Amino acid sequence: MAVEHRVLLGIGVSSGTAHGAIAVVSPAPGVDTHEPRTDDVDAATQQVSDALETVATSLLERAEHASEKAQEILNATAKMARDRGLKKAIVKELKNGSGLTRAISDAIQKYADMFIELGGYMAERATDLYDVRDRAIAVARGLPMPGIPELSEPSIIVARDLAPAETATLDPDKALGIVIAEGGPTSHTAILAAQLGIPAAVRVGKVVDFATLAQAEGATMALDGGVGEVIIAPSQEDIDLLTERSEQREAALADSHGVGMTYDGHRVALLANIGTADDAKRAAEKDLEGSGLFRTEFLFLGREAAPSVEEQTEVYKTVFEAFGKRRITVRTLDAGADKPLKFADLGEEENPALGRRGVRLTRIREDLMDSQLEALAAAYKATGADVRVMAPMIATMEEAQWFADKARAVGLPSVGIMIEVPAAAINSAQLLSIVDFASIGTNDLAQYTMAADRMQGELASLLDVWQPAVLRMIRSACQGGTATGKYVGVCGEAGGDPLLALVLTGLGVQSLSMAPTKVGAVRAALKLHDLSTCQQMAAYAVDAPTANDARAAVEKLIHPDVKFLI
Ligand code: PEP
Ligand code: MG
Repeated sequence: MAVEHRVLLGIGVSSGTAHGAIAVVSPAPGVDTHEPRTDDVDAATQQVSDALETVATSLLERAEHASEKAQEILNATAKMARDRGLKKAIVKELKNGSGLTRAISDAIQKYADMFIELGGYMAERATDLYDVRDRAIAVARGLPMPGIPELSEPSIIVARDLAPAETATLDPDKALGIVIAEGGPTSHTAILAAQLGIPAAVRVGKVVDFATLAQAEGATMALDGGVGEVIIAPSQEDIDLLTERSEQREAALADSHGVGMTYDGHRVALLANIGTADDAKRAAEKDLEGSGLFRTEFLFLGREAAPSVEEQTEVYKTVFEAFGKRRITVRTLDAGADKPLKFADLGEEENPALGRRGVRLTRIREDLMDSQLEALAAAYKATGADVRVMAPMIATMEEAQWFADKARAVGLPSVGIMIEVPAAAINSAQLLSIVDFASIGTNDLAQYTMAADRMQGELASLLDVWQPAVLRMIRSACQGGTATGKYVGVCGEAGGDPLLALVLTGLGVQSLSMAPTKVGAVRAALKLHDLSTCQQMAAYAVDAPTANDARAAVEKLIHPDVKFLI
């Protein structure tokens, strides 16, 4: 079935252009709630055997073309699908009368619980079991295999939504682009895509019926992750236009090198946001001044058990060594809300974003904070790197003091807080009086200032950092820095937006941390403007009545070449 030419506009979250084949990500199917109970156990057992064997074979086939590391995982998962004990456990459920998919689901859950109970390596394998479950249920229900399909050729990944853990496993050489129907611009999936340097757009809406797209032979798509444009079945003219845009951008970035500074030499450090040791190695090869945000929770997404101090120390050493003498700002575990960690689960919450996430969680699970700080201190001592450590979601002096005391007690040299809760932005002078620096997380600061869930793409206009109320919060955070002589940076997504970067500079922000692929455009934008223009832009934006007015006021002052940087 052919798909029709269509142009859709979403929100660009990772610039760059791409065109090519489409790979549709099917969601995990779940239990068939309408299935009958099992009467004929023999027939159902045969169906289970067939489903598990199909899963095993497809995983092994996939392993043949996979990287060494992926091969190991795929082979181990296939082995699990062929595990006799597992099959027996499913048959037991069938004998109790459970329907086919219910039996698969319940038996595998019991198995997974056993693995989790054992802890350590075995607990990690529970994730593979869930993978077997989802695949076996898909086969039993005659639905497409869930998850990111095997990419036989470089393709654009199209999904209703992607979990951060799925995005993190994407191979940047095979994933040409990411198109997400839902999601928001500051969701962690969008952030990860930018970090991997894969062009991406979110909130693309009905990317077309997923089933149609999944079955369409040879369907192609083009994407401009800067402006968020997605073209289904693009014409040659569309592709030429995208190529032209991409060439203009490359030309505009060709001379973007060295430290960040305005036209008149006002320095703004340009830093990388990273989430893994591999990110650190990739980022450290780039022309940037260090890392302003190491999201350590990304190391542990999808893990069943807390990593040991030794394991953490090794990862931190690798990250610190990658940056050599350049600074590295580590954020302690920020689990909760859209980054649930199984080993740090405090149970269901009505409003997880307003619940026990970030530092609130580690105040309860102090063991997690203590072991992380111990590992960070050990890695710092072993490498002598320029390490700065900050805690997420700080709202009160007690929280800041609690964290600062702990971090200083283990000998960490520079201790800071993230400003992402309005309370912290308003009280930044007091908070900064007891720590060494602050970094503004504009993603959460926008979410909490505007009371708009950052996961809810429909609220994207409220979550816009151009909202004058959000800009005023940022100004207040910066004023605290000026009053105390302490350093204030930005590490939310706003830091990687060339126009907002100018406004933030005008508000007094001293460093901007972003996906490494965004550094070139921000550096070029800064170089085109002097500090007083940035300050003028900031004054206009903060005083504007609406987000659109704020942006329009700033656009009047920008250098015309900025348009090539978006
Ligand atoms: C932020 O909130 O802006 C931030 C940098 O933290 P995260 O996006 O990881 O919540
Ligand atoms: Mg945050």
